[in-house]
Amino acid sequence: MSSTGDRSLPDPGAAGRAAVEARRGRAAVKRALAAGQRGPRDVAERAWQEPEGPEGRLRVSEYLGSLRGMGPARVTSLMAKLSIAQSKRLGGLGGLQRERVRGWLDDVDPSRRPRLIVLAGPTAVGKGTVAQYVREHFPQIRQSVSATTRSPRPGEIDGVHYAFVSDADFDRMVDEREFLEWATVHNRSRYGTPRSSVQAALDEGSSVLLEIDLQGARQVRESFPDAVLLFLAPPSWDELVRRLVGRGTETEDERTRRLETAKVELASQPEFDATVVNTDIAEAAREVVEHILVAEGDMTSGAS
Ligand code: 5GP
Repeated sequence: MSSTGDRSLPDPGAAGRAAVEARRGRAAVKRALAAGQRGPRDVAERAWQEPEGPEGRLRVSEYLGSLRGMGPARVTSLMAKLSIAQSKRLGGLGGLQRERVRGWLDDVDPSRRPRLIVLAGPTAVGKGTVAQYVREHFPQIRQSVSATTRSPRPGEIDGVHYAFVSDADFDRMVDEREFLEWATVHNRSRYGTPRSSVQAALDEGSSVLLEIDLQGARQVRESFPDAVLLFLAPPSWDELVRRLVGRGTETEDERTRRLETAKVELASQPEFDATVVNTDIAEAAREVVEHILVAEGDMTSGAS
């Protein structure tokens, strides 16, 4: 973006900087693919949604070459098989070529399937923080925005943290079966997961992480028997109390109510498929993601 008065002269500095920026963006996509932080399907679908974005501008050869086990010779022969020219960019593929890439991805890893993952656990254990870490570091795992009847806390944005709705709106959403699950939490406000956005993400091939309460987790177990239920546990009860008091966002009454709920919630741990102890946020988040990757590969099937 040149700020000089003469528009006929391109600013070589700005163009150069934009090119460096674009190269960095593509390099980040390749690194994330190679590290398994982003899935090949997620990157391809993104490229086709935004052909001019970093994913779209990535060469197909670089995309394939970033995947595990894909050396240069395999990339060349695969591209010939898929009838894709070596110079093609991912975003520039035609409809048929896209279908061939999708088909190849299905064949390479036929057992991989998107999963619904529930992250539940007692109040103040850090579910929200762990879920946020997953959102920031593992964008291939989708999360839905719940609807709630509680008022926003300072800094919370409607449509980002929650969809803040009235009681009447929530009633209507329940009546119209818009929720995959919903519950009254801490005997106070109602919270619900929208069915349509979760289903859309699963249909696109992405796993979805739901950060919800125990009642919601039980409903998901009923309606999605192959969902994976993860229990986020505190290192100890004393630590849980410390975290709840330390947060300072609740009144004394509210704290007492939440601690009562927490006791009941802690007792539900055996109902879950696995427990992740939240001592360190990044470590707990990575453990959650590992459970998701294992579930996607269905390596646990037959074991339960
Ligand atoms: P907060 O009011 O602190 O944001 O959330 C209170 C509790 O509601 C948390 O335990 C959170 O996991 C739960 N919650 C948030 N969204 C949903 C939802 O969509 N469904 C259910 N069942 N619980 C939710």
